[in-house]
Amino acid sequence: MKRRHFLTAAAGLGVASLAGCATSSGSRLSRAPLPGATGDALVQPIGAPMRPIQSSMDRVTRTIVGLRPFRKPGPRLEAVKVGSKDVVHNYGHGGGGVSLSWGVAELAAPLAKGFGRSNIAVLGSGVIGLSTAILLQRSGAQVAIYAKDFPPYTTSNVAGAMWHPVTLFERDQVSDATLAMLDQASRIAFNRFIRYANDPAYGVYWIRQHSFSDKPLDTTYPYTGGDDLYPGLLRNQPGGPFGFAYYDAYYTLMIDPDIYLRALVRDFMNAGGRLVEATFDTESDLEALSQVTIVNCMGLGSGKVFGDESIIPARGQLSFLLPQNDIDYGYAGVAPDRGLLYSFPRKTGILLGGSVDKGDWDLAPRQEEVQRMVAGHAWLASRLG
Ligand SMILES: Cc1cc2nc3c(=O)[nH]c(=O)nc-3n(C[C@H](O)[C@H](O)[C@H](O)COP(=O)(O)OP(=O)(O)OC[C@H]3O[C@@H](n4cnc5c(N)ncnc54)[C@H](O)[C@@H]3O)c2cc1C
Repeated sequence: MKRRHFLTAAAGLGVASLAGCATSSGSRLSRAPLPGATGDALVQPIGAPMRPIQSSMDRVTRTIVGLRPFRKPGPRLEAVKVGSKDVVHNYGHGGGGVSLSWGVAELAAPLAKGFGRSNIAVLGSGVIGLSTAILLQRSGAQVAIYAKDFPPYTTSNVAGAMWHPVTLFERDQVSDATLAMLDQASRIAFNRFIRYANDPAYGVYWIRQHSFSDKPLDTTYPYTGGDDLYPGLLRNQPGGPFGFAYYDAYYTLMIDPDIYLRALVRDFMNAGGRLVEATFDTESDLEALSQVTIVNCMGLGSGKVFGDESIIPARGQLSFLLPQNDIDYGYAGVAPDRGLLYSFPRKTGILLGGSVDKGDWDLAPRQEEVQRMVAGHAWLASRLG
């Protein structure tokens, strides 16, 4: 294990300047008026007219790439013995890690506490590690997070991040137990996230969301966690705003990861947490830690360290356009000859997405992909009535 140095509360993470803001439950801010809050405008009814986004190359502000930690049998949540350590694995959340975070954290924390020790190490400082660490703190543990990278330099910062746990497993490889766990985690997570809605300190807000298709949309399974987690849900309706044959629509939460992860780091530090910069190469590196109870939340990094060959990257590239405060909706779908396209509104810009490339480790942005997305989203905008 390579450990470089200890990070302190004020080490570039904005902790000091944010001290005293809301905590997740019963917070002062969440009860106070929210002048200028992200999501301060009321979300329009699902059928209300939608203003077009302005998608053109001269409005692109940045392009980023992230590797979703996709595990073919689905996320791993279990306690195992590794050498002399008791390890709880909590990784492999594919394209739904932000959505699932509080849920899998709430399921993992008691497994770790169950070993009966109050000093606990969490490996990984993305949304899964931070959420798990915070819930362990709330149950009375002293927690140190060990990680190679911290926000804003994690995959979690690249996430969309719309609340809808998807791209989680290969259907022919997932067990019934994992499906049940995902449903349970989704319900817990949604009911925690909803408490943050329109709190500017956390960057969580409501949008209306459309999925479109030229083919009937699959209604074989309920949406992850149950259809009731998607207020206003309409499934496989004819027509829709973009002129495709079918659409789904619902309200959901957007989580702006840059704001949200900064808030989680702040909450963790304010509760006495410790951040330690460290890189693990093999599982025997865990022996160097003083803690005996360890929760592994290293996402894609878990594959190499723990020899799990079922986890692969699912590459995603996002471009951002200049902000438009008249956009209260997101959308996703496959357009003929244009491929997958999705867009979410953020206060800081309009997010353009549309790539899920499994097995692709390349973190360099691709210009032809930027052009495909900008042109594809402009074409969709031109189809709005
Ligand atoms: C383009 C894109 C769009 C997405 N959209 C959504 C969305 O709309 N909704 C949604 O819910 N999810 C979305 N996701 C998925 C989401 O980002 C992931 O599921 C989630 O971030 C996984 O969180 P994590 O904490 O497990 O991993 P990470 O954020 O990758 O954190 C892993 C941590 O482990 C550390 N680590 C890794 N290896 C090592 C090592 N060897 N030694 C020490 N530390 C190590 C890292 O430094 C980091 O701190 C999207 C992802 C991408 C890329």
